[in-house]
Amino acid sequence: MSEEKKLSEQLKEKLFSQKKNAVYRMNDSEIKACDDFAEDYKKFLDIAKTEREAVKAMVEELQKKGYREYKAGSGLRTGDRIYINNRDKAVICAVIGSEPIETGIRLCAAHIDSPRLDLKQNPIYEDTETALFKTHYYGGLKKYQWTTIPLSLHGVIVKSDGEKVTVRIGEDDNDPVFCVTDLLPHLATEQSKRTLSDGVRGEDLNIIIGSRPFKDDETSEAVKLNILNILFEKYGITEPDFISAELEAVPAFKAKDVGFDRSMIGSYGHDDRVCAYTAFRATLDCDEIPKHTVVTVLTDKEETGSDGNTGLCSAYLKYFIEDLSAEFGQNGRAVMSASQCLSADVNAAFDPTYPEVMERHNCAYINKGVCVTKYTGARGKSGTSDASAEFVGTVRNLLDSEKVICQTGELGKVDMGGGGTVAAYIANLNIDTIDVGVPVLSMHAPFEIVSKIDTYMAYRAFSVFIKS
Ligand code: MN
Ligand code: MN
Repeated sequence: MSEEKKLSEQLKEKLFSQKKNAVYRMNDSEIKACDDFAEDYKKFLDIAKTEREAVKAMVEELQKKGYREYKAGSGLRTGDRIYINNRDKAVICAVIGSEPIETGIRLCAAHIDSPRLDLKQNPIYEDTETALFKTHYYGGLKKYQWTTIPLSLHGVIVKSDGEKVTVRIGEDDNDPVFCVTDLLPHLATEQSKRTLSDGVRGEDLNIIIGSRPFKDDETSEAVKLNILNILFEKYGITEPDFISAELEAVPAFKAKDVGFDRSMIGSYGHDDRVCAYTAFRATLDCDEIPKHTVVTVLTDKEETGSDGNTGLCSAYLKYFIEDLSAEFGQNGRAVMSASQCLSADVNAAFDPTYPEVMERHNCAYINKGVCVTKYTGARGKSGTSDASAEFVGTVRNLLDSEKVICQTGELGKVDMGGGGTVAAYIANLNIDTIDVGVPVLSMHAPFEIVSKIDTYMAYRAFSVFIKS
């Protein structure tokens, strides 16, 4: 009997997919490497809460590593490390490989914008001796989650004389924070009858910013006046300057370990900083000259559909690859056609509290490694790029041979909802592209959760890909 069982176990090992928790497949020092990596990632999360702050932090790191800002036509050689900064909201970095560029590049793409509350262009108003900001939410968020949490304010204001003022308030322990209010349950009888998506409405997402009037009985809007006076003294700005401003309200809290075992990280903006940071670090840590030219793009505007000149539907990535190709006397289109891309974005993790939205055989789980997703899309794969079996085979075999723990999964049950990534826009350039990313709990919430092991496995996946 025991012999027979042993044979069945052997056969299972040989024939079944490996679906064990990564903890069983790693030794203690490998798990420690994941935990150590998480410390660096948490620091990045706290300093880079917006796309502009991510670009600033990344450009500083690139310059420290000897990357130079690239100007088209300036000449390139094997081993050169370069970057371009697209309007302080997106960045591309590259390492010129030893193989001719026409053999294709290794491209990693992730986004550095996250759902949040943007201020409108006429944001400030006073109502019943309270000063508030009007907002227009950015990206797909559940509006009720953004009430009654501390918010910080980040961004830039361009003044009438052209001077650009950087704002970051609510992050320092001594800073004040801001907040969207919500109704007390005692008086929410009518509100509670609304649907969840309608419970808090877009025009209800008003941020409270002050309550003390300017001391002058004769004037109206004295609270608004008092706030504008404070802002003038601090930043030298007046009300019309908000017209030429980009101010983003984001959760004020910092990244923290989650769980008694500290196995997870809770933070604002894992989507998609968990992939942006890991892809960026993999590029930065690639000290040897890679075989193929490595290009890593950290883009903006994914959460609103990738349109606009800092989103991946614009031509800025294509222009960059064309410029690189021209340096070596090659056509951009030939280079792109020979290239491979990991489109790095988060996936939905199975949530034990909400199992009904997932198909258990084909979804991502925390602690089962980086998730490789052949196709995305919704309602019959609409909007997908669907990586070819051949390219999936290439990526899968690479990750397996380098012992990167990975899993495959799609975003929820068929016809339950779904979503897309930038993969389709890159694949449309005739680049072999596949989605790779970290499973996230509570995606798009102010406080999202990822596993430290999965985060590190994403880093390892990008590392082995760019060296392939
Ligand atoms: Mn994303
Ligand atoms: Mn997203």
